[in-house]
Amino acid sequence: MGLDDDAREYHRREPPGKIEIETTKPTNTQRDLSLAYSPGVAAPCRDIAADPESVFEYTAKGNLVAVVSNGSAVLGLGDIGASASKPVMEGKGVLFKRFADIDVFDIELDIDEVDPFCEAVKAMEPTFGGVNLEDIKAPECFKIEERLREEMDVPVFHDDQHGTAIISGAALMNATEISGKDLSEIDIVFSGAGASAIATARFYVELGARKENITMCDSSGIITEDRVANGDVNEYKSQFASEGPGGDLADAMEGADVFVGLSVGGIVSQEMVQSMAADPIIFAMANPDPEITYEDAKDARDDTVIMATGRSDYPNMVNNVLGFPFLFRGALDVRATEINEEMKRAAAEALAELARKDVPDAVVKAYGDDPLQFGPDYVIPKPLDPRVLFEVAPSVAKAAMESGCARTEIDLEQYREQLEA
Ligand code: NAP
Ligand code: MG
Repeated sequence: MGLDDDAREYHRREPPGKIEIETTKPTNTQRDLSLAYSPGVAAPCRDIAADPESVFEYTAKGNLVAVVSNGSAVLGLGDIGASASKPVMEGKGVLFKRFADIDVFDIELDIDEVDPFCEAVKAMEPTFGGVNLEDIKAPECFKIEERLREEMDVPVFHDDQHGTAIISGAALMNATEISGKDLSEIDIVFSGAGASAIATARFYVELGARKENITMCDSSGIITEDRVANGDVNEYKSQFASEGPGGDLADAMEGADVFVGLSVGGIVSQEMVQSMAADPIIFAMANPDPEITYEDAKDARDDTVIMATGRSDYPNMVNNVLGFPFLFRGALDVRATEINEEMKRAAAEALAELARKDVPDAVVKAYGDDPLQFGPDYVIPKPLDPRVLFEVAPSVAKAAMESGCARTEIDLEQYREQLEA
């Protein structure tokens, strides 16, 4: 219980919580205060009223993200409510700041219904440069994100869906390259059909996987057209229904090239791994315990198993912190109106490419001196690698400009230098 008590103490220490607001302009004299507030503040107010875009010049909007939750699917803790989710949302703010110098207001809304939740978030649009939805349960999370993306003019991004999709997508591009498999030919089995699994399956299709080669299982086994016809699955699961006969996860995994676990720990056996195709790829991402342990998966076979988990104590950690800070950094810096498929794909490609490059000594040291070299045990960069910022944010900004959702054009070379400084 050492960690729990340390965490309590960490949060309680004065001042309680993990964040505070700081002012960025001088506030020492009467003059300073009459610039910061009335009467001086009226001048920028009038300018913004005349030219709405100038809000980015005069206020913190352009570097401010709302991390919004209703606490309905918090970590692995379930529906613990808005107030109990606040430490997590503050923590997300800490990561935004630490990795990409983005400021966050954490917003915990005591609203479960889709419509009033969307109205509340939409009404906050003037305040923020972007919205990171967090820990909202499926299937409501799909509806909420879809609707807000449509109705809002700032990026809206549900990290529990797309974070995993992007980072494991980068890992998949590299894993298939290493194992000599072709994305368009591989058979992929999903365990889990919730927020992260649905978004990840969709993203893999964007990356070139074939939808008909995906078999998705939920807690009742393979999602089939028969189950759809019986009204047994929601509209999101039904998009991945298989034509074939039903069965359980073990049936689905026979002969599969790739296993993607976004469900619960401990449900995959060594026999199931042995039944997969040659040189299988296993992303067992249930937290904190993966669907199968790293050791059990590796030991199950003599050929090469490429294994990723959500854990920091094993190779190939699929960690969302490789994604959201840099996606938002790139999006905010071109004042993007959305985070679209092109931008997500650019982020995944930048991550995949970075993993193929030599790793600086400082990064190797930070991870205990084990060699980090492109291969089965290093298919994605490490979160503390400072190059992730310089590689991913400019790639996202470029994709935003090219796909027409940037409100402002920037010089990418200059931008990169500025990030590195
Ligand atoms: P979610 O929306 O609650 O979905 C969970 C899914 O797992 C549901 O579809 C559920 O089936 C299914 N499931 C439960 N028991 C199962 C079983 N015995 N066999 C097969 N499927 C089963 O949760 P989520 O947000 O997608 O997260 C799922 C898991 O992935 C969690 O452990 C989470 O920590 C992990 N995750 C990891 C990362 C990461 O490593 N970066 C990122 C995101 C999520 P029903 O639909 O039938 O209930
Ligand atoms: Mg989350």
